[in-house]
Amino acid sequence: MKVLVINCGSSSLKYQLIDMVNEEALAQGLVERIGIEGSVLTQKVEGKDKYIVKEEMKDHKDAIRLVLEALVDENNGVIKSMDEISAVGHRVVHGGEKYKESVVINDEVKANIEECFKLAPLHNPANMIGIKACEELMPNTPMVAVFDTAFHGTMPEDAYLYALPYELYEKDGIRKYGFHGTSHKYVSQTCAEVMGRDIKDLKIITCHLGNGASLCAVKNGVSVDTSMGFTPLEGVAMGTRCGNIDPAIVTFLMKEEGLSVDEVNDLLNKKSGVLGISGISSDFRDIEDAAFNKGNRRAQLALRIFEYKIRTTIGAYAAAMGGVDAIVFTAGVGENGPETREKCLEGLEFLGVEIDKEANNVRGKIREISKAGCNVKAFVIPTNEELVIARDTLELIKK
Ligand code: AMP
Repeated sequence: MKVLVINCGSSSLKYQLIDMVNEEALAQGLVERIGIEGSVLTQKVEGKDKYIVKEEMKDHKDAIRLVLEALVDENNGVIKSMDEISAVGHRVVHGGEKYKESVVINDEVKANIEECFKLAPLHNPANMIGIKACEELMPNTPMVAVFDTAFHGTMPEDAYLYALPYELYEKDGIRKYGFHGTSHKYVSQTCAEVMGRDIKDLKIITCHLGNGASLCAVKNGVSVDTSMGFTPLEGVAMGTRCGNIDPAIVTFLMKEEGLSVDEVNDLLNKKSGVLGISGISSDFRDIEDAAFNKGNRRAQLALRIFEYKIRTTIGAYAAAMGGVDAIVFTAGVGENGPETREKCLEGLEFLGVEIDKEANNVRGKIREISKAGCNVKAFVIPTNEELVIARDTLELIKK
């Protein structure tokens, strides 16, 4: 059985075709500049040259048509016909309060995803366009929606409610939802497997540190708190997002700097985080280069602030769970940044975790990075959101 995983953005689309017999990605690809001049599809297949298709794609339907053509292409493809695709799993960012699990897509589900447009105005409309385009091109193939928010549906009220007038929660759904759910789910489950323990007996803190960053407290296999909130802006500092700040700064900026709603939004989402502090880049490779090789003070400061927020959130989640058994690092920086991992755990020896510098010298591979004998183990575990989407999709269509 083969499952096609689609992650649709506003002008881009990522995909993977996964053979569920051995959970192997047969092909993975990226379509960029959909609806913009210079549209391009790039497909990677193990053992073959990169397949690049430069062709006008006026919308997502054009893009998905080209994805299907690339997958069945005689020389560069991996399947003989579209009939080999048993189901499509769509990443959908926001499932609101309704979806605590993945679902088979029908008219009601689509209406509910549209309901959530106001909660995720940049993401859900793009996800929906992808669903509709696939339905038109593959009308007989079952489709499943896998939500970024779903894994956090188990958070208790104490963790997800803000201390705002309660009516705002009832009327507008203002609460913490959390994101990166598929990633937190995957790495916490893999962590339990690697430890040879039942996840139901473990307290795990997962640190998804990429361009967007969030931490999750996973107690007995379920999310009990996470750092992103009503939107992905809350939490630790990120590439370009500010994370937690005093909310009064928003009104101050509007009054004193005369910024409009859109300008404040832009500043907090796109000009802040490690980019805002360093003034150099949102990419950790550039910041590390400036900090370590050029002695740039603001780049060093950006890294320290990033690490401080993560360290203190780890402390908070140990408190939330009444302890911690394992800390997991994943995503771009978490998988590839030994220095960042070391600094994030520095000073947490009192919790029972100490980094093994030699073991920590690893990139993109599953590895225990804490010293032997530590009560709290630390791991690098590469994430695989596509595989979670494919697994959920398969499980649902089997039913
Ligand atoms: P993601 O959002 O998970 O794709 O992560 C993207 C971020 O990971 C990039 O912005 C980089 O800052 C960071 N990253 C990727 N590779 C490396 C690396 N080799 N060393 C340090 N940071 C990296």
